[in-house]
Amino acid sequence: MIHFWRQLRWQIIGAQMLVVIVGVVALSLTANALLEQTVSPDQLATVRAAVIQALTVAAIAATIAGLTTSILLVQVILRSLRSIARSSQRIAAGRYDERVHVPASDELRAVAESFNQMAEALEQIEQRRVAMIGNVAHELRTPLAGIEGYLEGLIDGVLPSAPETFIDMQHEVRRLRRLVDDLQILSRVEAGQISLNFTTFDINDVIRRVVAQLQPQVLDGCLQVVCERANQPLLTRADPDRVAQILLNLIGNAVRYTPEGGCITVRSALVDEQVQVVVEDTGIGIAPEHLPYIFERFYRADPSRSRASGGSGIGLTIARHLAWAMGGDITAYSAGLGKGSTFTLTLPRGTV
Ligand code: ADP
Repeated sequence: MIHFWRQLRWQIIGAQMLVVIVGVVALSLTANALLEQTVSPDQLATVRAAVIQALTVAAIAATIAGLTTSILLVQVILRSLRSIARSSQRIAAGRYDERVHVPASDELRAVAESFNQMAEALEQIEQRRVAMIGNVAHELRTPLAGIEGYLEGLIDGVLPSAPETFIDMQHEVRRLRRLVDDLQILSRVEAGQISLNFTTFDINDVIRRVVAQLQPQVLDGCLQVVCERANQPLLTRADPDRVAQILLNLIGNAVRYTPEGGCITVRSALVDEQVQVVVEDTGIGIAPEHLPYIFERFYRADPSRSRASGGSGIGLTIARHLAWAMGGDITAYSAGLGKGSTFTLTLPRGTV
């Protein structure tokens, strides 16, 4: 059974009619009271009949005007609501390019605009999801093709069944494992499901540890790593393991993208009541057209180079999400190709 009073059209028409009825009743009562006070009893009947006639005409006119305006109003509102309902059904069915017409009235325009913004956000999420599947498949293909190649070589007897071949295969398997691990962290960190153990600690300790961990690669690349102001304690409130993970990515990238003989400077300081770690290198730099995208998943400014060095292009995405989760941020700057890069990590200050 349809409850017609629940429908917006009948509610608006009912409201208009109620106004007409209340107006007519109030007018009749006031007119009657006035007539009884001002008109002589012999003229009362004639004047009352004239007033009733005038009130009837006014009531009919008001009813017609009320009905017409409510019908027009209802049509405008219902058209917008129906269009939004239709569009949301199409979006639910996977048509993410769906948008609604934006009406002229302020309130309906605001609703239509919010709806279109939501549709656009959903479309972008869908595009990113599709791109993510493509990227994951692409990233998995490279090490898998490598392993397949080694196996075929072994089966055909082209490659010797020697430790070197197996070491090369192991290298590809490790790459695969790193990628899968990174993807798992990425999905957790993006869903906000990463567990963090907040403590207050000296960030310079972590910097020293990470630099020591990267020492073999630093020596391999004949690089110099300078830690400025690392001898005074600088307290931060965050998860020390996650901070180490971020710094390993930032300093590791600096080592990876700085040619032999280059220099990497790690500077820590308290700026505007926040702990700041700046990782500056004299490496290959980042072209301005790539700079805005380097924190996006799988984005590589130079795909051949970073893939060759084992990079999957999601290290910075994870690092930035981790920094956000700890109330901080990471920003990147480069004056251009060949002009080095600067990454700045900010974290909340810690107090004893
Ligand atoms: P990858 O594992 O490929 O290094 P990241 O997410 O850590 O992935 O970095 C994304 C991209 O940003 C890299 O592929 C590289 O093009 C660029 N990049 C990051 N750090 C530096 C740096 N210090 N110097 C130059 N380019 C960098």
